[in-house]
Amino acid sequence: MFKKIEKYFLRDIAIDLGTANSLVYVRGRGVIINQPSVVAVNQKTGQILAMGREAQQMIGRTPPYIRVARPLVKGVISDFEITEQLLKYFLQVARSKERFFGVWPRVIIGLPCGVTDVEARAVRDAVKGAGGYQVFLVNEPVAAAIGMRLPIQKAGGNFIIDIGGGTTDVAVISLGGIVVSKSLKVAGDRFNEEVQRFIRGKYHLLIGESTAESAKIQIGSAIPSRQKSEVPVRGRNFVTGLPEEVIVSNDDIYQALKPLVGVIVKAVKATIEETPPELLSDIMSDGIYLSGGGALLEGLDKLIAQEVKIPVKIIEDPLTAMVRGSGMILESLDQLQGVLIDEHNQSLPEKFD
Ligand code: ADP
Ligand code: MG
Repeated sequence: MFKKIEKYFLRDIAIDLGTANSLVYVRGRGVIINQPSVVAVNQKTGQILAMGREAQQMIGRTPPYIRVARPLVKGVISDFEITEQLLKYFLQVARSKERFFGVWPRVIIGLPCGVTDVEARAVRDAVKGAGGYQVFLVNEPVAAAIGMRLPIQKAGGNFIIDIGGGTTDVAVISLGGIVVSKSLKVAGDRFNEEVQRFIRGKYHLLIGESTAESAKIQIGSAIPSRQKSEVPVRGRNFVTGLPEEVIVSNDDIYQALKPLVGVIVKAVKATIEETPPELLSDIMSDGIYLSGGGALLEGLDKLIAQEVKIPVKIIEDPLTAMVRGSGMILESLDQLQGVLIDEHNQSLPEKFD
C-alpha cells in the first residue's frame, strides 16, 4: 500500500550542478533547466533575484547589496547557502511543471570523482535542505557514460574524460564502478584564466572572464591550425588605463592553452598506465569518450588520439549527457542502483595536480 502511495507522490528529478552550467531533468519531461550556474542574491533579504543567464548579465553591474556568485568553484560548493537556494529554485521549477503536485521529490545529483566525503555530504545536505525527499549521489563520469549508453554494467573497459568548468575527470569504468580515476582542477575556467593571462602579457590588456571565454570558444584550439582566424577583444590597457580593442588570433589562444592541454594529456596517459591490461584491450577497440563542454575545444579529440594512440570520440550532446544519464539511473533504479555512491564506503581517486 505504502509503495503505491509512494509511487504516486514521488517525482524523479536529476540535477547536474556543474561549476559552469546547471541542468535539471524531470522524469517524463526531459531537460527543463539548462542555465549557467550563476545566482544573484539580494543580501538585504537573502532572496534570489535571478539565476542563470539573467544573473550572468548582472555581473559587474550591480549595486552593492546585490551579490552575483557562482555556488560552486572548481567542482565543490563554495557557498552553501546560495547552493541550497539554487537547489530550492530547481525543485520549485520542477514542481511547478508538474500537473500533480509532487510532494516527495527523489533527487539524483552528480559529483566529480575527486570530491571528499565531507563535500559529498554537503551536497546531500543541500539537496535535503532544499526539499529533496530521497537523495542519490552518482559519480559524474559514470552518469555521463550511462547517458551516452555505454555498456558500463558489463565487464569491459570504458574510458571517459569529462571536461567541465572546474574539473576534468578521467575515469575507467567497468561493471558499473570506477576502476581507475583522476580528478584535475584544470578545466574550462582555468583555460579562460590562461587566455586572460596571455592577453595581459602580450597586449597589456585586461579583459573580463567572459570575454576570454568567448574568444576561447570562437577560435580556441588544442592543435596548431593552418588557417588563421581572429577575434576582436575589448578591455583596459593597464599601461595607459584606457579602454582598447585588440585583435587576437587563434595562434594566441592555442599558445595560451597549450600548457593546460598538456596537463590533461598527461593525466590521460597516467590513467592509461594504471589501467589493467584486460580493460586496456577493450579501450583500444572502443576508444576514449570525451564529455563536458571542454570536449568541444577544437582539436582536443585529435590531439589526445595522437598522443595516446587510441581513437577518441566526442559524445553526442556532451553538455547534457550527464544529467540525462542520471535521469536514466532513477528510471531503472532496480538495475542501476549499484552505480550510486555510498559515501561511507567510497574510495577516492588520486588528486593529480
Ligand atoms: P560543468 O559541468 O563544470 O558545469 P560544462 O560541462 O557545462 O561544465 O562545460 C562548461 C565549460 O565548457 C566552460 O568552461 C566552457 O567555456 C566550455 N566550453 C563550452 N563550449 C566550448 C567550446 N566550443 N570550446 C571550448 N570550450 C567550451
Ligand atoms: Mg559537468
